[in-house]
Amino acid sequence: MIPIALPLLGAQEAEAARAAVLSGWVSQGPEVAAFERDFSALVGAPHACAVSNCTAALHMALKALDIGPGDEVIAPSHSFIATVNCIRYCGAKPVFVDIEPDGYNIDPARVGEAITPRTRAIIAVHQMGMPCDLAALAELSRRHGIALVEDAACAAGSQIRFDGTWEPIGRPRGDIACFSFHPRKVITTGEGGMLTTRDPALDEKFRLLRQHGMSVPDTVRHGAKQVIIEDYLIVGYNYRMTDIQAAIGRGQLARLPELVARRRALAARYGKLLADLDGLHLPREPDWARSNWQSFCVRLPDRADQRDIMQKLLDRGVASRRGIMCAHREAPYAQDGARLPLSERAQDRAILLPLYAQMSESDQDRVAEALMDALRS
Ligand SMILES: *Cc1c(COP(=O)(O)O)cnc(C)c1O
Repeated sequence: MIPIALPLLGAQEAEAARAAVLSGWVSQGPEVAAFERDFSALVGAPHACAVSNCTAALHMALKALDIGPGDEVIAPSHSFIATVNCIRYCGAKPVFVDIEPDGYNIDPARVGEAITPRTRAIIAVHQMGMPCDLAALAELSRRHGIALVEDAACAAGSQIRFDGTWEPIGRPRGDIACFSFHPRKVITTGEGGMLTTRDPALDEKFRLLRQHGMSVPDTVRHGAKQVIIEDYLIVGYNYRMTDIQAAIGRGQLARLPELVARRRALAARYGKLLADLDGLHLPREPDWARSNWQSFCVRLPDRADQRDIMQKLLDRGVASRRGIMCAHREAPYAQDGARLPLSERAQDRAILLPLYAQMSESDQDRVAEALMDALRS
């Protein structure tokens, strides 16, 4: 069986987790601080704050921006549901915008049309690791004075050319970027997330929000020579990462360049193997984007039935997944009555193919052959 994805974890991460366990400090402590330093250096962000997962990061991002009831937040529906759930957590209203015709990211032109006096933020997703048009979105956010939050859940290791220079996703070019370290992403800590920002005031809020609003973290109290009594300044959450996860994450960060290089080589190879399939639409990388290829998503020809093709692949021992979901078609958001034909079409016509760093070329050949046969029959 060829799986859809497979995390690459080895002795390096196991040893680091063991050391964290034996250190006597297992929740948010020195390893979390070191993971944050490593991550901020990697993406070039002045501040990085580690949390329990990316859903928590997105929730905290909107909280830190004081988004609440009466506010509107623009987001794609064509994304994992966590992207928009965080808007509801804050009591604000998601305003769905359709995707670009030939990709899977939010369409900046339609974002401009959706802005109202109530709009407080845009959530821009780098879907499946493919950078979205940040230059256009950052310009809209500046011009209208609304915040830009990057849902970079899948985009650790992706790059974008901004003002003529290549830079990692996460600097960030919006106000805040949120990352996930779920096993389905390119690097993993089991569960985990990270917020990056250039704004020290936002970073300070993140640190309060992730730890119950506590004025002095336990790490500081633990090392103090004088008794310190903490205050609880706001209603915060427990969104802490453990030191065990952070230790694993540091091992994963060390592997990231190699993982991305391998994924890019495999994605390019898929491009060649599948180039001649009549009517199959391959993902396109804009010349200002370098994807980490968290997922490889192809759009099926009109004649093909999505479920039938997926079953035929499964019968040949090849896992696949349907295209990215649309939140507006799920019960919590269905009543909004959004019309998003391009998003719906992408969900209904696309499938994700197996892609992971350890994938052999012969396994990749098998996937391509299975897809060709399925489309022919
Ligand atoms: C995976 C994912 C999330 C959620 O990440 P978790 O770490 O699992 O909470 C959010 N947004 C997008 C686009 C994702 O792909």
